Amino acid sequence: DDEKREQVRHTLESQKIEFILAQFVDIHGCPKVKQVPVDCFDDLVDGGAGFAGGAVWGLGQGPHNHDLMARADLDTFVRLPWRPNVAVANCDIFVDNEPWPFCVRTNLRRMVGRFAEAGYTLNGGFEPEHFLVEKTPDGGIRPWDPLGVDTLAKPCYDFRGMCQTMDYLQEIIRCGNQMGLGIYQSDHEDANGQYEINFGWTHALHAGDQLVRFRMMAGQIAPKYGAVATFMAKPFDDKTGSGAHLHFHVADSASGRNLFPLNGDGEDLKGLGLSSTAIHFIGGLLKHIGAITAIASPTINCYRRIQSGEFVYSSASGYTWTPAYASYGDNNRTQLFRCPDPNRFEDRSPSAMVNPYLLLAAHMAAGLDGIRNRIDPGDAIIGENVWNLSHRQRRERGMILLPQNLSEAIAALEADPVVQAGLGPIAQEYIRLKKAEWSEFMRTVTPWEVQRLLTFI
Ligand code: GLU
Ligand code: MG
Ligand code: MG
Repeated sequence: DDEKREQVRHTLESQKIEFILAQFVDIHGCPKVKQVPVDCFDDLVDGGAGFAGGAVWGLGQGPHNHDLMARADLDTFVRLPWRPNVAVANCDIFVDNEPWPFCVRTNLRRMVGRFAEAGYTLNGGFEPEHFLVEKTPDGGIRPWDPLGVDTLAKPCYDFRGMCQTMDYLQEIIRCGNQMGLGIYQSDHEDANGQYEINFGWTHALHAGDQLVRFRMMAGQIAPKYGAVATFMAKPFDDKTGSGAHLHFHVADSASGRNLFPLNGDGEDLKGLGLSSTAIHFIGGLLKHIGAITAIASPTINCYRRIQSGEFVYSSASGYTWTPAYASYGDNNRTQLFRCPDPNRFEDRSPSAMVNPYLLLAAHMAAGLDGIRNRIDPGDAIIGENVWNLSHRQRRERGMILLPQNLSEAIAALEADPVVQAGLGPIAQEYIRLKKAEWSEFMRTVTPWEVQRLLTFI
């Protein structure tokens, strides 16, 4: 609206902004931008910056189609703290003045609307992990460790590892918070060179923007310290991978009240103090977990992170902290859906590579199915180390193995009309691209094969 527009214009002027990055992401979640002089602010809000859709992955266009117009969302303008004459704005994509359903942010906006019509809002915050690495002369990578202090077998929360990276982390937190990420904690994680940053809670659309902005920022700031920031899900065979846990709850869209806690209102069905809305929402997520995994773990490499415990022979600490089985339960990090308290759940499966807009849309579609059809997630697993259960115990508790590679996950998405509906036309485009990715990978001979087989017989 006009008031908001004048407010943003005023802020841009007072911050002496010269350029605006009109930004959106492709189907993989990679940021794409055009640089626009601030004088063209009104054009960017009303008309948009023009893009050739066929030049971007997954936007449902060929070279012959009309321009994609990326229109800046007035709620998202923010100055780049590390480049103070530049602001960035998240855009929604229009073609011929209509919202473009292949835009992942526009699709999430549609799902937020569908969710609100049912009376709900999804709020959440991501906890992305990432590595700082450096390239080695032989073309490999190693954890960034300039002082040689980051060598512990259990480096989680390490003081020296943190101190060596303190300048970087402080810059990340300072800049991130200037960009509205609400960062409230950071630590050295469970692998050498790995860090976790926790964001504040917000509504779904903004939660998606936050993760994208964070990855853009870390990628720009790490090189100042001589490091590469990577969100690859599993950069090292022998170290735990990088997740992007999502903490979330469902609220009443009118009052904003959190609908997850039981608050003494009815029977505590699962022993976790949860309302039936929360229980059915989790029921929906578990029912559709195969298709959701195709989104949560979008690349071939992501599946190296969620391999089932039986076959994981090592990690820096002996644990990967990553779920391989679908389960839910108490404040227990061996669960896929952990309930730290009745106000929220943590989804521990998404990898740091996740496209957050697609994940949140998939969650809403699956969770709404759960609520509408009163899907029972079965008994909560309370006080047990899920990783130590036998196959038989898992079967008895109804725990299924997550798809163990991209091909299995895509097959699950292909068989899931509910999650597909949550993704709109993006679903078919995603399935097509991911099948091609799998097929290309399967035709690639890896160094592991050559080493093992060259003189095997
Ligand atoms: N790095 C673990 C993962 O891949 C998560 C560790 C944690 O609990 O924060 O999901
Ligand atoms: Mg972590
Ligand atoms: Mg976590």
